[in-house]
Amino acid sequence: MSVSRPLAVLASLALLPLGLALGSPAVADPETVPGGPWPGQENVNAIRSYDQLWKTLETIDGRAQGRFDLEAAPLPSNTGREIPVVTLGDGPTSLMLIANQHGNEYVVSEAMVEVVRSLSGGSAHAREVRDALTLTIVPRVNVDGFDADVTDLSGDTTPWRQNYDTECAAFCEFYEEGRGYDINRYHSYSANAYDHPYQPGEDSDNPVPEAITMRLLWDERQPELVVDFHHQGTYVDEEGRMITGSIMWPNAEAEAERLGIAEQFAETVVDSKRAVSQMVTALEGKGYANITRYPSTEFPGIARNAYGLLGSASVLYEARGGIGAASNGYITQQTIVAAESVVDAAADGSLWTASTAPADALRERGPYVSDPHE
Ligand SMILES: [Zn+2]
Repeated sequence: MSVSRPLAVLASLALLPLGLALGSPAVADPETVPGGPWPGQENVNAIRSYDQLWKTLETIDGRAQGRFDLEAAPLPSNTGREIPVVTLGDGPTSLMLIANQHGNEYVVSEAMVEVVRSLSGGSAHAREVRDALTLTIVPRVNVDGFDADVTDLSGDTTPWRQNYDTECAAFCEFYEEGRGYDINRYHSYSANAYDHPYQPGEDSDNPVPEAITMRLLWDERQPELVVDFHHQGTYVDEEGRMITGSIMWPNAEAEAERLGIAEQFAETVVDSKRAVSQMVTALEGKGYANITRYPSTEFPGIARNAYGLLGSASVLYEARGGIGAASNGYITQQTIVAAESVVDAAADGSLWTASTAPADALRERGPYVSDPHE
């Protein structure tokens, strides 16, 4: 596999062009616009709370076969809550699956729990995966944005997109007053996990512990592949069919060029497209799935781009979200199939030689559909 980790190069070149850093917030954030949930249809009660998530994982730990570690991420959230991290298997290939960086995108966290449950079992398949891979799974990065007992300036409660941090002293991009930061804009891609991705030069000023702690895990685990699971709103394709998920690889070509790592980055993109192709192929022919390409921005601090710039194959997966409990079952199932497709291909090694044709042929996402209930 053609994974390179040009940390030394990155260390000396941790600057970002100011124009990119200070770009209009309006273009910065297509994952929010118009991806929010439809009020009145959400049923957060059906999703595991912070305590229930830890308890479920502890129960799975108690029955798990093979290597299974449940521990807290290196740093807690701003309210002092620990972020659960599961490590499965002790094989030579390292993979990282993270989910729920945005607090209101939570069905994917349930899917991660099911992946953990399935791969910790006694089946021959689970054993093969654990022998081949060391799999790090973080089902809910944004524990505060999901259900911390806090309110914003309007008195609204979680879940919301951001973490919880009511003080932004200086650089307040990707920040919502009274709530906090968009975790998925603050991943360091320089040599230092604590680096602020939009502040020129080397520093340790990154204000987002949840992003820093994912990067610390990356440093420790050195994954060949990182997959980041999110939700988008409801979109349709050109035939009017609901799009049930959108997927994308890293696209920070300009930053890679500036860092002098364009060639390595291009190889990383190929490996990322191989992973995307696995997901697309696995979901083809499933009646409930209709997958398109995610229309992505080039901000380098997005997990998809940051870990790609660091040399891991990297994939963003966006499930249709905000659609209520009735549809959560098939969205969970689709997410499990997508996750297991890359896990299986990494375990048997086929991932790194697979064709990128299915990724290259992905259709662009179609138009947004507003809430039919409003
Ligand atoms: Zn998201």
